[in-house]
Amino acid sequence: MRDKELKKYAAGIYNQSEKGKVVRRRAVKKYHLSEKGKAARKRYRQSEKGKIHKKEQDKRYGQSEKGKIIHQMINKNHQHLKRASGIRITVEMWRDICERFGWRCAYCGIHEEVLYTLYGQRLTMDHVIPLSKGGQHIVENIVPACGSCNSKKGTKMIKGEKNRRI
Ligand SMILES: [Zn+2]
Repeated sequence: MRDKELKKYAAGIYNQSEKGKVVRRRAVKKYHLSEKGKAARKRYRQSEKGKIHKKEQDKRYGQSEKGKIIHQMINKNHQHLKRASGIRITVEMWRDICERFGWRCAYCGIHEEVLYTLYGQRLTMDHVIPLSKGGQHIVENIVPACGSCNSKKGTKMIKGEKNRRI
């Protein structure tokens, strides 16, 4: 065996040994916590491949027992927060909100009529500041949103309010 192959062979044995595994795990962890590792992960997350990977992961997680339980808990918490705020949005209030937005989704601007014709959906209440982040179930914190915008996580931008990050 030549030097190079010998080294590779030795590395293989080392990597599979208990000590090698521990050392490797530690190195991986260190890399993950490093700026370089963080940047690499961010790049991966933003790549097409990374996005697909994340979607698959989310799907698998959602179907797992743990994922289901967590989902249920979040749902319950959501309901709880809504109730805890003590304020109910009446149909009239909701109609006012929709009127204010011209019966359009606050994010993509789709009109409710179009939404209904195309997808059989109505506008839904979206909390500008999510309940989970301390937002309240009050008129000021509610905007109409189509199903697809409502389910989008992360940063949403209300149409016409370019500087308003949510
Ligand atoms: Zn929308």
